[in-house]
Amino acid sequence: MPETGVEPAEVPAGLRRAAPPRLPEIAEPDLVRHITELSTRTFGIDTGFYPLGSCTMKYNPRVNERAAALAGFRDLHPHQDPEGAQGALELMWRLERMLAEVVGLDAVTLQPAAGSQGELTGLTLMRAYFDDRGEDRTEIVVPDTAHGTNPASVAMAGYALVGVKTDPRGNIDVDDLRGKVGPQTAGLMLTNPSTLGLFEERITEIADIFHGAGALLYYDGANLNAVCGISRPGDMGFDVVHFNLHKTFSQPHGGGGPGGGPVAVRGMLEPFLPVPRIVRGDDGLSYDWDEPKTIGKVRGFAGPFGVFVRSYAFMRMWGPALRHMSEVAVLNANYVLARLKDAYDLPVDRLCMHEFVVSARTLRREHGVTALDVAKRLMDYGFHPPTIYFPLIVSEALMIEPTETEALETLDAFCDAMLAIAHEAAEDPQQLKDAPHTRPVRRLDEAEAAKRLTVRYLFEDHPTSE
Ligand SMILES: *Cc1c(COP(=O)(O)O)cnc(C)c1O
Repeated sequence: MPETGVEPAEVPAGLRRAAPPRLPEIAEPDLVRHITELSTRTFGIDTGFYPLGSCTMKYNPRVNERAAALAGFRDLHPHQDPEGAQGALELMWRLERMLAEVVGLDAVTLQPAAGSQGELTGLTLMRAYFDDRGEDRTEIVVPDTAHGTNPASVAMAGYALVGVKTDPRGNIDVDDLRGKVGPQTAGLMLTNPSTLGLFEERITEIADIFHGAGALLYYDGANLNAVCGISRPGDMGFDVVHFNLHKTFSQPHGGGGPGGGPVAVRGMLEPFLPVPRIVRGDDGLSYDWDEPKTIGKVRGFAGPFGVFVRSYAFMRMWGPALRHMSEVAVLNANYVLARLKDAYDLPVDRLCMHEFVVSARTLRREHGVTALDVAKRLMDYGFHPPTIYFPLIVSEALMIEPTETEALETLDAFCDAMLAIAHEAAEDPQQLKDAPHTRPVRRLDEAEAAKRLTVRYLFEDHPTSE
């Protein structure tokens, strides 16, 4: 044992450094200036408009951060006894009930850390429910507009995927659907409004088809920002719903987190929910681990607690006026759509919900300019690009979601930029092909950039200890 009395870490000889790391030898102010300068090269909702479709990049009120930083929340240890964490348990208990009310279902688990984990949790709940009934169902139906996480979750939950087509109005093709639902069907996975930003017009008829076959309906809640206080998945016939707290109920998300993906269920699925459940008894709130039919644990401790505090604060701020949030999100999207629809192709000409999809296919055919070129050029105008090439059924797709938190002036500036770019496509297409011109990096090879991340920059321009 060395003099410090601390055992050296057991690093295998082959992994040990031969020389000290090449850290820059510079003064603190130089380091601070360097890091601060780097921070200005990134883009976030606090620096500009971020119309990334399906992701709901809304402004995050600072009061949420105040609440999450209250010492009684911030300094809690995950192993704290429930008696010493009654406030935190109360917040989670109330959040569960508020979420249940928003979607019109009976019980909620807060544990999953993201929408995608909520999907896996929800499908696992459905599997446990059918196992308990002795029913062997093997298939989940997913429309061709679905987000990629849907088929991935279906496969991870051990189900076979059955695709269903979209009709010319952008709804599920119900005729295509009928032949695909039977005693082998465990359920439907649907996003409503869909990733086209369209409300499923025949949803109650679709629910009847699945329930008539003894199957369940799963609601991908990523687009819940369109319908809060207006319509409820539970009333449409859905039995399981995941929320993306970081989309609908405000979190500073992007770049990998933080997120929250609670799952709400109809009463018959409640016995299978993950443990621990948060329960209210005569002597306060506590954890209940003793649920014989539970699917078990899906995440550490009670879930991503800081996310709960922010979403709780956000929902309490809106209160019963939550409906107004969704109404403005839908109004903003329809405003932007109305201003852009003559310059870009519209795959389905309907009133949209909180987001919409246009296509650059005419720009491509006439001028060789793609959705990617439009997106890159938008960066020169100071805007984050929208989601592109999704949903997969629309060629040259641009999926635009303004959210409710943007002012008319911002929406107009964005529309002006989109119209200017459509004009540039005809006048000077090469300028778009070479964009962006004003950002720290120019056009990247997307595949190469994703696979071979270059992080050397930080050390290159500075003297090192060597
Ligand atoms: C974002 C999203 C998901 C996945 O949610 P995460 O929280 O990112 O895991 C699933 N479906 C749709 C439609 C989405 O937009």
